[in-house]
Amino acid sequence: MKKYSKVKYSDIPLFKNISEEDWKDWKWHLRNAIRDIPTLKKIIEVDKDEEKELEKCLQKFDMSITPYYAALMDKKYKRCPVRLQAVPRIQELEISENDYIDPLHEVADSPVFGLTHRYPDRVLFLVTHMCSMYCRHCTRRRVVGDLDEHLSEQHLNKCFEYIQNHEEIRDVLISGGDPLTFGDDHLEQLIKRVRGIEHVEIIRIGSRMPVVLPQRITDSLVDMLKKYHPIYLNTHFNHPMEITYESKVACEKLADAGMSMGNQSVLLKDVNDCPFIMKKLVHELLMIRVKPYYIYQCDLSMGIGHFRTSIVKGMEIIENLRGHTTGMAVPTFVVDAPGGGGKIPIMPNYILSQSDRRLAIRNYEGIITTYTQPKDVISDCGQCHICDDERYKPLDGVAKLLCGERLYLKPENLKRRKK
Ligand SMILES: *Cc1c(COP(=O)(O)O)cnc(C)c1O
Ligand code: SF4
Repeated sequence: MKKYSKVKYSDIPLFKNISEEDWKDWKWHLRNAIRDIPTLKKIIEVDKDEEKELEKCLQKFDMSITPYYAALMDKKYKRCPVRLQAVPRIQELEISENDYIDPLHEVADSPVFGLTHRYPDRVLFLVTHMCSMYCRHCTRRRVVGDLDEHLSEQHLNKCFEYIQNHEEIRDVLISGGDPLTFGDDHLEQLIKRVRGIEHVEIIRIGSRMPVVLPQRITDSLVDMLKKYHPIYLNTHFNHPMEITYESKVACEKLADAGMSMGNQSVLLKDVNDCPFIMKKLVHELLMIRVKPYYIYQCDLSMGIGHFRTSIVKGMEIIENLRGHTTGMAVPTFVVDAPGGGGKIPIMPNYILSQSDRRLAIRNYEGIITTYTQPKDVISDCGQCHICDDERYKPLDGVAKLLCGERLYLKPENLKRRKK
């Protein structure tokens, strides 16, 4: 088994005299987050040009790096994958014609402030704008860090009312910002209220704390969370460098308390846009009991153009994983469609051709094989009655075409209709 090393913070002059007790205290890290250039310069080398650029960036965007995450940065190497995620670069000020403030229409798809209800049976509940660290590639930079605050009681109440009134919501995804910036008591009140809604089946938490501030995952936190199972926790590791002794301990604590752990990476230029880095990452994730769930194509949020890769890179990564390694290590690569279309999976083509009898398919090794379809292919349904339950029927979409409830879908404003 791999040996995990603790982060050697005492090698960094700024943290040399920090007691172990403080270093283990997540609140100390929040209080001492690195927010200005002079402090940053005590941790990494920043040359004159870079400093000037940083100054310009900080006029527009905040920086906040937890001492823990800062200690992972290479002191000299400017292209260090941890540094690129944490320290602003001048390109953040470049706005291209394809950048949007809210590319995913999280606001447009928001029935009440704080909730995005895009998919039929689940909601995204953005309970706070606060994070322990401001990732430079953040999708929600329109709000995160801008208003450094949690959702007000009044807004929270509106959200709960909405969830309560919509019986179709069976999955509540608590995210933000980072919901683990809440203290345990405050967080418990919130989760308890979600759990109290009868039709909510599962609760998911989205948090980057295991990566940027693993000290947040305390015994008391997991003891509280485990009272409200089933809870799933998705985190956000992007590079194998982020997997340390501390992050392993955090993920193990969560897993031991029964939390199913998933990981959502973002494909980032110069950070992880490489099939070998990604393969190492997914292997290391499984070792700390986190299952790779998604790789996101970097979206079209404002000022993150320098992080974007070609979509093809994601396909290449999946080509390098599927079949080559443990199936559980293979995440789904998705593009979160601009305009609120939601996540669209993209993968290499495995179907080469087909007839009404046979499919020609290929595997990861390049073997071309066939599958002969059975003659009697129509499912013999009508034996059970799960389909009588309205909850299991599609409301919309291609699935509705397939089940025969609709004959076609067509765009609303077709020109030919006006003729
Ligand atoms: C990603 C997302 C979800 C959850 O999607 P899953 O595919 O179920 O993980 C839900 N709502 C919104 C708005 C999202 O962006
Ligand atoms: S933790 Fe998530 S929400 Fe917070 S800054 Fe990073 S990417 Fe954005």
